[in-house]
Amino acid sequence: MNLEFARKKMVQEQIVARGISDRRVIEAMLKIPRHIFVQEAMAAQAYMDSPLPIGEKQTISQPYMVALMTELLALKGTEKVLEIGTGSGYQTAILATLADRVYTAERIRPLALRARKCLDSLALFNVMLRINDSEGSPIGWEEEAPFDAIIVTAGAPSVPTVLTDQLAVGGRLVIPVGDQGEQRLARIEKKTDGTLEASASVGCRFVPLIGKQGW
Ligand code: SAM
Repeated sequence: MNLEFARKKMVQEQIVARGISDRRVIEAMLKIPRHIFVQEAMAAQAYMDSPLPIGEKQTISQPYMVALMTELLALKGTEKVLEIGTGSGYQTAILATLADRVYTAERIRPLALRARKCLDSLALFNVMLRINDSEGSPIGWEEEAPFDAIIVTAGAPSVPTVLTDQLAVGGRLVIPVGDQGEQRLARIEKKTDGTLEASASVGCRFVPLIGKQGW
């Protein structure tokens, strides 16, 4: 199947049909070629309705999950965004299309280097990438905080306070929370008085967030 056709079909059947309605998210998913972010031998499977292995025992998330988490961030185009877990760089590319600047951190060097190449090939130069591979690296990017939106693409046992501390007033954090087998997406908004308002979204299954306040 032609990959562009496969991408349109993915957006129609997996994203729009399941209720994603943010026009900008839909446009970004139509625009970004997901197949360049998977291993070459898997390009034909890139538009399937599932996560896929990307090496190093990690995965590129299911397209619907990428769309849903992005929609929950409610990006308008002016935001400074933090992503924890660059992985393939696909979610990063969607964020970079929808926000002003993206800071993304990955703990596995070969994945980060490959992601950087993919992002550069799409001229997404508003992405700052950091490799957090030293033992005991803190989660987040404190020096660049606060962020208008934070997305964590790995599952945590609870919402890390190190991340809510890096959220701007009015900012949104989206993170899978639960045990290592199964989680639920949590959305946390920092209100103007500094309090945190949490809501729960769908069930999900992510690889573990490694580190202090992770696993
Ligand atoms: N969003 C990615 C994509 O579109 O390909 C999928 C990311 S994958 C499900 C989760 C990633 O989080 C893995 O690459 C893993 O190495 C990374 N990770 C786990 N703990 C981390 C941490 N503390 N800091 C940075 N990256 C972390």
